[in-house]
Amino acid sequence: MTFSSPHPNSPSPQRFPVVVVGAGPAGLTLGNILRAASVDCLVLETESRAFIEQRPRAGVLEEWAVRGLEERGLAGNLPARAQVHEECEFRFAGERHRLGYTELTGDHHYIYPQPLLVTDLVREYADVRGGAVRFGVRDVELHDLESERPSVSYTDPDSGQRQLVHCDFVAGCDGARGVSREAIPPGRVRIARYDHGVGWLALLAEAPPSNDCVVFGVHPRGFAGHMARSPEVTRYYLQCPPGDDLGNWPDDRVWAELRERLGAAGAPPLTEGRLIEKRVLDLHGYVVEPMVFGRLLLAGDAAHLTAPIAAKGMNLALHDAFLLGEALVAYVTRGESAGLDGYSGACLGRVWEYQEFSQWLSEVYHGASSGDPHRAGTTLARLRRLFASPSAALAFAEQYLGRTPTR
Ligand SMILES: Cc1cc2nc3c(=O)[nH]c(=O)nc-3n(C[C@H](O)[C@H](O)[C@H](O)COP(=O)(O)OP(=O)(O)OC[C@H]3O[C@@H](n4cnc5c(N)ncnc54)[C@H](O)[C@@H]3O)c2cc1C
Repeated sequence: MTFSSPHPNSPSPQRFPVVVVGAGPAGLTLGNILRAASVDCLVLETESRAFIEQRPRAGVLEEWAVRGLEERGLAGNLPARAQVHEECEFRFAGERHRLGYTELTGDHHYIYPQPLLVTDLVREYADVRGGAVRFGVRDVELHDLESERPSVSYTDPDSGQRQLVHCDFVAGCDGARGVSREAIPPGRVRIARYDHGVGWLALLAEAPPSNDCVVFGVHPRGFAGHMARSPEVTRYYLQCPPGDDLGNWPDDRVWAELRERLGAAGAPPLTEGRLIEKRVLDLHGYVVEPMVFGRLLLAGDAAHLTAPIAAKGMNLALHDAFLLGEALVAYVTRGESAGLDGYSGACLGRVWEYQEFSQWLSEVYHGASSGDPHRAGTTLARLRRLFASPSAALAFAEQYLGRTPTR
């Protein structure tokens, strides 16, 4: 059992105040904040450094998140390389409708692919701030989380030996499929789940963007999305049945569906290219409450999953890491526990805001193709209101940019 006492054959147990499980945006941001305050930590990651620096996923960062990275000296190459977006475009009923969210709020979206952010963060943590990290570890187990002396064990990839690390806190930043959340005994936290009931074919095309902003295609055949990642690579999404077989999606069919669902009067033609990623996502979300169990503190996707409907997950991972980093620094260096005591509550306000917005937007995307004429009608009413009412547009813009009342 992952929450039992360890029985490792580690020759000499190591000790760090904090062990961070997972080197994604949450874990690396947290590690960097701890190192900046001279709090020692060890980051454990199952994959190699090369792998995490190339794993494609997110690309949209909210303005407050970019400012938060800058304030902590973590923006790296972002200001020079990110694209700055000010508008998005909905296409429905054969027409294009632009929503200028920056004009409404003053905030921007930054397009910066997750692999670039991870590359910046790992370089800063390991090469600049001298943080300890082990890549390629196996069979990570968490122990004695309810005691004041928890520990983490893992198999070292080079020696094959079990290693034991004693610590004061374990930060569970190992994403949706990690071991941290699983280490909490059943019934000790509440896990609220939501299934959107649809699948998305997530695609990356080696092709320049076909539009100067994000496009949401709401179509009776199903949703389609277009999102720039870089001048050379574009992410597309196509709604499909949950669990659909990739064999149903040869490249020709993908491009035909994208052309059809993103088609609108005056829209520029799609620039096609080699599809370098094609996978089916079943859209679902969950929230763990509280995000703390004994000395285990969850952050990012380990604590809450937001389907990529509104491009929120990486932003939430950064928000958690900012708060957790500050709370741990305050506790370890000054003995102040208020930040840790309030950590879960401070994160969950934004988490639930984003869950609610994703649910709302999911209905806008998918109602038209649900086969239910009532849902299709209300979807269209929502969309028309968005472009007829300035206050509806402002409310959308605030949520899309993460300007939450809990900020
Ligand atoms: C197709 C797609 C598009 C997306 N687009 C956006 C977007 O535009 N904007 C946005 O904000 N979000 C987006 N997201 C969500 C975003 O990618 C995630 O929310 C983000 O990666 C979460 O960061 P994290 O650090 O919590 O977890 P992760 O990035 O998953 O990192 C967890 C790390 O832990 C490691 N790990 C796993 N198990 C273990 C273990 N047992 N021991 C040690 N290490 C372990 C993993 O290898 C990984 O490196 C998208 C997601 C997908 C799938």
